[in-house]
Amino acid sequence: MPCYRCGTRQADPEPGKSSPWRRGVIGEHQVLVCPACQPSALADLTRCVRCGSAYLIRRLDQVECLDCRLIRNAEPESAGPEDSDSSLAAEVARALERVLGGR
Ligand SMILES: [Zn+2]
Ligand SMILES: [Zn+2]
Repeated sequence: MPCYRCGTRQADPEPGKSSPWRRGVIGEHQVLVCPACQPSALADLTRCVRCGSAYLIRRLDQVECLDCRLIRNAEPESAGPEDSDSSLAAEVARALERVLGGR
C-alpha cells in the first residue's frame, strides 16, 4: 500500500527495525503515511475519540486505537457524501415537528 498523500511505496524495513511509516485511518479507510508526509497528515487523520491518538487501524468493520485499544464500529462506507446524514436528520426533525406541533 503506497503513502496516501504522495504515493510513495514503502520499502521493506531493515531487519530488526520497525518501519518509520505510520498507519492511520482517514474517512474510515486504512491508510499508510510515509515519514515525509506525517507532519501534514496529522491534520487529516481520524483521531481516537478517547485519547486523541491518530494511530488507528481499520479492521473489518471496526476501527481500533493502537494507543488505548479503544475499538469502535466503523461508519458504513456506503453512506455517501457527508451531508446525507444531516439532511436525513433534518427530515426526521421536520417529521417530528409535524407530529408534535401540528395540532
Ligand atoms: Zn508520503
Ligand atoms: Zn485511543
